[in-house]
Amino acid sequence: MSVRWETLELHTARPFGIARWTHTSYPRTFVTFEQEGVTGRGEAAPNAFYGETAGTVAAVLPLLAPALTDPWDWDGLHARMAALMPFHHPSVKCALEMAAVEWAACSAGVPVGRLLGLSPAPLPESSFTVGLGELEDMRREAREAAARGHGVLKVKLGTAQDERIVEALREEAPAAALRVDANAAWTRPQARRMLGVLDAARVELVEQPLAAGDLEGHAGLRAFSRVPLVADESLHHVSDVRALAGAFDGVNLKLAKLGGPLQALAALRLARAHGLQVMMGCMIESSLGIAAAAQLAGACDWADLDGALLLGDDPFTGLEWTAGQLERPTGPGWGVQRA
Ligand SMILES: [Mg+2]
Repeated sequence: MSVRWETLELHTARPFGIARWTHTSYPRTFVTFEQEGVTGRGEAAPNAFYGETAGTVAAVLPLLAPALTDPWDWDGLHARMAALMPFHHPSVKCALEMAAVEWAACSAGVPVGRLLGLSPAPLPESSFTVGLGELEDMRREAREAAARGHGVLKVKLGTAQDERIVEALREEAPAAALRVDANAAWTRPQARRMLGVLDAARVELVEQPLAAGDLEGHAGLRAFSRVPLVADESLHHVSDVRALAGAFDGVNLKLAKLGGPLQALAALRLARAHGLQVMMGCMIESSLGIAAAAQLAGACDWADLDGALLLGDDPFTGLEWTAGQLERPTGPGWGVQRA
């Protein structure tokens, strides 16, 4: 039995901007677990918003890896990780959980979704993200994405010219479903004004208009908004879901922030139990992480799985995309291979 890992710097095809930052590369750590000739793999995609960096991953992974002793004992893995490290470190836990679950699926010779009994329904079409930048560049990106066949665009907001951006993208892609992600950047008055703009532009949903902790503000917006509100930064942990039910219409689940596919599945079931709609989301991450999210996405209302499409040097292959339509891999485990 062995657990090993390597960290690669993955580069985006273009600089990628959101309200908090613009980046051109992302350190991602890939975990490989081997036992009895079978391999399970996971990816850690740390995000500073959730308190993780490449440095914390490098420090915490050696402490948590010994928790992966029996790849069939997922409850035990969680209990041991919680005992070793009380802080969340979700992307590290995600990488180890992914490795355990893929190992089990590969040893059974089935895709992870089948092992877990998840919906085999076709995935909802994924949005393609237009990052923040110069307005003309954003226009061009939207136009090109629509021309390539992307029917769902998501735009990052949180600037002084949000209204112009929404109007410009609506103009460039009149037939596309348009989603907006404010990444917690608006004040309550800004959000109230923007919700009118979004409604007029036929925006399908808005992610995280206000600060992560402002549930009261979100509940206030929701009371009059015609555009559904989706929690992203407000949801870090499965146990957050219940409190979000009164403040949002839906939740964005990401494996790397929740702590892995089993945690995301628990959040999905809890969200359904509370009447929330569900988006399967992602970080900027390789096709390994996206393949894991794809196994769960058939049970979701919306997909936002373009993280690997934005990369120029994705180290994994095997995902079949037709514009924004991703086919769930049917091979054993996560169904992708190292390039
Ligand atoms: Mg978001």
